[in-house]
Amino acid sequence: MADNTNAGFETICIHGGHVAESNRAHLTPIYATSTYTFDSAEQAIAIFKQEEKGYVYGRFGNPTINEAEDRIALLEAYGLTNADGTPLQLKAILHASGMAAITTMVLSNVKAGDKIIANQSLYGGMQELVDKILPGLGIASIIVDFHDINKVEEVIKADSTIKMMYLETPANPTLQCIDLASLAALGKKYGLTVCADNTFATPYLQQPFKYDVDFVMHSTTKFLNGHGTAVGGVVIGRDLEKMNGIVTKTHRLLGGNSNAFEAYLLTNGLRTLSLRMDRHCANAEKVAAFLAQNKNVAHVNYLGLKSHPDYEIAKKQMKHPGAMLSFELKGGFDAGVAFINKLKICISAVSLGTCDTLVSHPASTTHVGVSRENRIKYGITDGLIRMSVGIETVEDILADLEQAID
Ligand SMILES: *Cc1c(COP(=O)(O)O)cnc(C)c1O
Repeated sequence: MADNTNAGFETICIHGGHVAESNRAHLTPIYATSTYTFDSAEQAIAIFKQEEKGYVYGRFGNPTINEAEDRIALLEAYGLTNADGTPLQLKAILHASGMAAITTMVLSNVKAGDKIIANQSLYGGMQELVDKILPGLGIASIIVDFHDINKVEEVIKADSTIKMMYLETPANPTLQCIDLASLAALGKKYGLTVCADNTFATPYLQQPFKYDVDFVMHSTTKFLNGHGTAVGGVVIGRDLEKMNGIVTKTHRLLGGNSNAFEAYLLTNGLRTLSLRMDRHCANAEKVAAFLAQNKNVAHVNYLGLKSHPDYEIAKKQMKHPGAMLSFELKGGFDAGVAFINKLKICISAVSLGTCDTLVSHPASTTHVGVSRENRIKYGITDGLIRMSVGIETVEDILADLEQAID
């Protein structure tokens, strides 16, 4: 199943992008090969001239990788149409990591002298790229709170060198949500390339291409793979000429390609995306409700609670508020450390989106190098615990949390 048919989301999860294989294997094999053969010199010429379709070299493409790419493109396009009513066609390019996908996307679209306008809440890796690498290439970024649409417009209007709008919703790790519809429309009004990191939501909960977004990126490491078995990333675009042109060129030349084994793990994980997301979300709701009434918990940060400042935005553009949450232990830093040490089922680890519930205490781990003052300014308080709620039996997760919080 290779095109945007009327198939349902779950059917695409299972069959999307699958191409029959010459040995009639049910599943696409792991094509562990660095190069491909030509039947004749004439065929080689035709393939190089792009008159005939065919694989050439592993960095350029691979059938196992291709299946994962086409499946993700179909999922992001699911149910969406162009202005003329025809089904939306997207192209996805799989990368070695989310950061590789983001880098390809950025360097395909901006050059020295151009600026990026980005939301204040970004994944740490993207924040560092913006702060430490892009300025050296002559690409500056302006960080604005994208909740304030008027302010965003004011900034864009005042600087014609701004070429790209970059956003992430919900954002990692703050869970801030921003309004995709108005931001994408604003970006288009001023001719910007609009890019959205959809890692936290997945296409099951949110489809940024419903709006005027040009590119969507994912760290496939998270919910799309879903099992924590491989690092990967993908960039998806709606301008097929650009995707087949400069984006493909940049991807090939930066060399951040994925590999057949990890693409296979991703394709396999995608088969259960909607089943997993339903359970992740249902469990997260129960965990949030449990934490909200626990006497040792000061505050729960979850998009499904009315107390979350972005509750309404999430409700408007997401099918469900997702499986990520954080909460503040009243006991502060020491309570955070004690909590992590007492866990028996939940796993102490960074990353997110795996079947297992993953829990981290940023103040003692990811943010240990940041001064306490700055850390608290970013919302990473002493007793903050971040949770990616898994798909275990929810009563077991709740019991584990209860005994660890006590
Ligand atoms: C993890 C993550 C990334 C980076 O992806 P890697 O696969 O680790 O390179 C980018 N954006 C978001 C929102 C993430 O959670």
